[in-house]
Amino acid sequence: MHRALLVVAALAATTSIAACDDSPSTETPPTASAAPAAPAVDYTAWQAGSSKPVADKLYPKHGTATLDVLHYNLVLAWQPSAKTLKGTATLRIRPTADATQLKLDFKPYTLDKVTVDGKAVQATVTGEKLVVPAPVVADQPVTLVVAYHGKPATTPMPSHRSDVEPLGLTITKEGGLWTMQEPFGAYTWYPANDQPSDKALYDVAVTVPTGWSAIAAGSYLGQRGSTFRFRSTDPMASYLQTLAVGKYKKVVAKGPRGIPLTYWYRPGRDERFLPSLKKSPAMLSFLEKRFGPYPFPSGGAVMVESESAMETQQMITMGGKKKKFDKALFEEDLLHEYSHHWFGDTVTPSTWTDLWLSEGWATYVQFLYSQSVLKYSDKELEDYLRRADADLRKKLGPPGKPKAGNFAESNVYLCPAAMLKELHDALGDEKFFALGKAWVQTQKNTQQTRASFTAFVNKQTGRDFTKLINSWLDSKSTPRPA
Ligand SMILES: [Zn+2]
Repeated sequence: MHRALLVVAALAATTSIAACDDSPSTETPPTASAAPAAPAVDYTAWQAGSSKPVADKLYPKHGTATLDVLHYNLVLAWQPSAKTLKGTATLRIRPTADATQLKLDFKPYTLDKVTVDGKAVQATVTGEKLVVPAPVVADQPVTLVVAYHGKPATTPMPSHRSDVEPLGLTITKEGGLWTMQEPFGAYTWYPANDQPSDKALYDVAVTVPTGWSAIAAGSYLGQRGSTFRFRSTDPMASYLQTLAVGKYKKVVAKGPRGIPLTYWYRPGRDERFLPSLKKSPAMLSFLEKRFGPYPFPSGGAVMVESESAMETQQMITMGGKKKKFDKALFEEDLLHEYSHHWFGDTVTPSTWTDLWLSEGWATYVQFLYSQSVLKYSDKELEDYLRRADADLRKKLGPPGKPKAGNFAESNVYLCPAAMLKELHDALGDEKFFALGKAWVQTQKNTQQTRASFTAFVNKQTGRDFTKLINSWLDSKSTPRPA
């Protein structure tokens, strides 16, 4: 997520669009108890969606640590006039412990039908949890299908940021949709294990009226009728999913090494952003030069009616609700969200306590980019970071132990960026960029922690930076220069 503190018609029924799904085998086991054993579903097709979920200490009400969702197949239909979302979510789930029920995060929608391995079950939605009574056994995957409909509702963001907006699926005046969902909010539009330690593969198909478009994270597979399809073949945490519906047009481009890029904009509103969006290939080249290949098969951005911006995977969500358009700031934000694809998306903090790990890198890389554009000196950057760091520690505390009610406030951006500047100064360009590159390229599609970061830095550099890292993350005042 960006932080603005820096320098300077009639719808097809969901059943009819299910045919669009060509994801791996979905045969339904027979339901009669006397029937022979159901043909086994081959779950190995979704093995890349396997994770090691842990409980999130900051937001313990969200997520289930004993479930590992391998794949979400979301077949959705949106009716702007009725403001009704109709969905069928098929989840391939690997339980990590024996249990008597499945529990997922879900905002109250009307449940139309719920099945587990083809058998209908009486599920309920209570207290923002979908509770499915079905005994499960550790490491024996199950298929949960949830058909639902209803009007989406947002959820408050636990923060005091100036650009705070409700989280989750938001309906626009025109009947379109957009979402921002960090640290949670995916559960406002589909049943989700809504926490960062459970990454999964995705297929998303959204049917909208003629003339409208739907955009989600992942690679764009194209449009069939008025159904838009997206696929994530790299696992993704739920906060990195996105959904936008509106009267969009798209611009296609090629990034470095031919990476397909798509920019989705709303004619009559977003043209002013297009010249900046078209700088995406140059921004990706800037990042590749320092941190190795862009870690996904496609990229792009979608403009929405928000004031914020978000590093949603392979399809950045950029807020277009700017009172005054500041081109330089918009481009810094865009670069920041692209840099998260290395730091945050492919290598993701396991828990929200370590948000500094993704925001520190994205913010520091953003400074390096703005320095390359505005040509300020290292000394000017160092002085600025130290001044701002001292101020933020006083106001908001150190970045290593954020409070639940202060999500993503400035200290978790700037203070760890100042720490990375110290590391950069201590190592020099060559070793610092080799460290960043190795951190990403050898750990693609993983979740990491403070302990694993510290161990990696020490091993990669052959020096002991434990004290430096801990003091920058925990100290009440700005650590002295090393
Ligand atoms: Zn960010």
